[in-house]
Amino acid sequence: MPDKIHPLKELMRKRIVVLDGAMGTMIQRRKLSEQDYRGKRFRDWQGKDLKGCLELLNLTQPQVVEEIHAEYLEAGADIIETNTFSATTIGLHDFLFQGEPTSGRKDQEFFQRVVDDVDLRALVREMNLAAATIARRAGDRAIKETGKHRLVGGAIGPLPVAASMSPDVNDPGFRAVTFDQLRKSYFDQIGALAEGGVDLLFVETVFDTLNGKAALFAVADVFEKTGKRIPLVVSGTVTDKAGRTLSGQTVEAFLISIAHAKPLVVALNCSLGPDEMNSFIDELARVAPFYVGAYPNAGLPDPLSETGFPETPETLTPKLKHWAENGWLNLVGGCCGTTPDQIASRGRFRGARPSRVLAKASRFRELPKILPPARRAIRSDACPISSNPGRFTPSLFRHGAESICLKRRGRSY
Ligand SMILES: [Zn+2]
Repeated sequence: MPDKIHPLKELMRKRIVVLDGAMGTMIQRRKLSEQDYRGKRFRDWQGKDLKGCLELLNLTQPQVVEEIHAEYLEAGADIIETNTFSATTIGLHDFLFQGEPTSGRKDQEFFQRVVDDVDLRALVREMNLAAATIARRAGDRAIKETGKHRLVGGAIGPLPVAASMSPDVNDPGFRAVTFDQLRKSYFDQIGALAEGGVDLLFVETVFDTLNGKAALFAVADVFEKTGKRIPLVVSGTVTDKAGRTLSGQTVEAFLISIAHAKPLVVALNCSLGPDEMNSFIDELARVAPFYVGAYPNAGLPDPLSETGFPETPETLTPKLKHWAENGWLNLVGGCCGTTPDQIASRGRFRGARPSRVLAKASRFRELPKILPPARRAIRSDACPISSNPGRFTPSLFRHGAESICLKRRGRSY
């Protein structure tokens, strides 16, 4: 980061910052048809249906995406995220890659073809550039109309395949993708988002931390290539009631695993809904040496409820207020099932609540008194966990932080 204070940092020092809500939920409400998704350009696309390929709308129905951004901005969102959650070669392969697996299942040979596919890569670039331009245009218009800062975050989702888990229960050692394939796929997306002029990068809904790390590696690659850094938000998702990600990490372990990327904000999003997330947000706010955010879903999908999700602005807002009143938050928004109504209700409490004070994460300073000297000597590489030994607690090391650190030698990502 250059010396100049980033506008988001400046805002978070003053108050809780409001992020937008779900893009997918808002698109689904429009009930677009297969032909709508295809538009003119993909009218003759062969072989696969394109309905549900939300990111394609950046090219075929850009006005729909822009209208949704505008609704969130009108509701008071300080940050809008680009419609690019799955806009990667791997994320879009189900819709836009014509090749088939040769071995009967999607394996590393298959995904190598996906990440190398020239046409798909060009489409990914175009889609991310278009999405950044659409969001930028909506944001800039809101700035002009209101005179208030509005920021564009580039959304980088988790991908449909995991690097550390097998999709085949009968073959637990199988891995469908390699780390380098994920990294390459993310690199194409992040490069285009950066080129499109986003203010922030959101590596979000991290359920497999190794996928998240591939994204962070790609972020570092893009920074190195462009010579320009963009502040990061890294957000994990907790998928069981014991507070673990799908790849089995606790909130603390997740935090340690991504701390080397020095995010401006670390967050939890989506997950099990606000009720189940209470203690995890508390934990994150206690230990994180970064600004903290939360953008939960509106509960788990419920086909019997009117909106498809159980939480309404009336039920969700008091729960988030509780988090804010406890001083846990710097950034709040919504994930699956949330709408501009939900975001407008966040806006009503943001001004009245002070944001979380960063210095509260003091547990990270306790470590030097506890660790034996030999360990301190080992940890000497450029990783922030190693170079700031005072900031991490012994419990973090039980989750394997030291081994993560040592693996990072020679490179900070
Ligand atoms: Zn979600």
